[in-house]
Amino acid sequence: MPDERIAALAAGLRGKGERLTPARRQVLTTLAQSDHHLTAEEVLTEVQAQTANVHRATVYRTLETLSRLGIVEHTHLGHGPAVYHLADDAHHHLVCEACGRIVEVPVTLFRTVERRLRDEYDFVMRARHFAVVGRCRACA
Ligand SMILES: [Zn+2]
Ligand SMILES: [Zn+2]
Ligand SMILES: [Zn+2]
Repeated sequence: MPDERIAALAAGLRGKGERLTPARRQVLTTLAQSDHHLTAEEVLTEVQAQTANVHRATVYRTLETLSRLGIVEHTHLGHGPAVYHLADDAHHHLVCEACGRIVEVPVTLFRTVERRLRDEYDFVMRARHFAVVGRCRACA
């Protein structure tokens, strides 16, 4: 399954005239295999655990390039560093400010707000860039 996902992402890269370099494959595989969101530093640690001699700058540059190409997205869950995930699995994040619990919710949830902001304020919202902060049921 991860392999199929990587193959699909590689096809997406080719469609943009880009190649799946070894560094890009490592970063995408790391993100595909993780069951939670990773900071750039965590991606770096994981990639270096898999392959020796991968430079920190290479991993950071790769994350930047993949973000620019729309293959990878980052989001801000709270006060800490940004976290990364694969853009093929679009979702919004709710984060509990008390316990830090993260809940992923469908993008359709914000459609009405997006439409109203566009129609009434000529504003294109990128809600996925930030999490919605609040309290989960246990902490409310
Ligand atoms: Zn950002
Ligand atoms: Zn996410
Ligand atoms: Zn909570």
